[in-house]
Amino acid sequence: MAGSALTTITLTASQVEKVLAAFASPAIDQKKVKWGMVIDLKKFNELPEEKRRRVYEVCKEIHNIPVFPNPKDRVEWIWPADFEHTFPTQFSQFLPEEVEQLEVPVLCNHCENPPCTKVCPTGATWKRDDGIVTMDYHRCIGCRYCMAACPYGMRSFNWRDPRPFIKKINTSYHTRTKGVVEKCTFCVERLEKGLQPACVEASEGSFIFGDLNSLESEITKILKEHYSIRRKPDLGTEPKLYYLI
Ligand code: SF4
Ligand code: SF4
Repeated sequence: MAGSALTTITLTASQVEKVLAAFASPAIDQKKVKWGMVIDLKKFNELPEEKRRRVYEVCKEIHNIPVFPNPKDRVEWIWPADFEHTFPTQFSQFLPEEVEQLEVPVLCNHCENPPCTKVCPTGATWKRDDGIVTMDYHRCIGCRYCMAACPYGMRSFNWRDPRPFIKKINTSYHTRTKGVVEKCTFCVERLEKGLQPACVEASEGSFIFGDLNSLESEITKILKEHYSIRRKPDLGTEPKLYYLI
């Protein structure tokens, strides 16, 4: 019976293609994955200046982030900071000078316990099953409670219409409007296509992105083998962005 049932199954060429494609790129189960990032600060700081700048610029270019003439209007998803202010609890007068002087890229930590999502009155920001802290700009009413709640200052507000200040609009990505908050998304739109976040791709191996739930992923292996630090760990926010020093 099994033999005769098998002989009756015939697939068209396009159906065969779909089945093969499904096996070639299995859908990521959001519930099982927990995305995180490691930044190897020494490796990053060894890159020439223009390559380091590229890591910041690429995020701006693909995500339609405006560049306002007045720094008070500034909207950023990733930017360079100094060690002392990024890691106030790890900083000490006895740190080696080369550590003290490291340029530290900062972006949303996609906290496992994010205070920013808990204060939003409209549910415009939330943590997805895969750990990414995301936003729905249409639901954002611009109250900026999330900005006040983020202990890292990783959210920006559009005080003005950003569109005239975008250098070159990427038509395949959305733009935002005056009165909404925005921040790093861990490049969800790229993850959906099986790509790495753009800053990771531009970082020449100094940023490592992957699944913190998988014992086999490069990121978990690196975190097991190297000493890493996180920003303000005493707050209990559980950042999923780790730094190697
Ligand atoms: S870094 Fe700030 S904006 Fe990002 S998830 Fe944590 S609290 Fe929220
Ligand atoms: S992960 Fe993507 S959105 Fe976040 S800072 Fe990097 S390039 Fe920008």
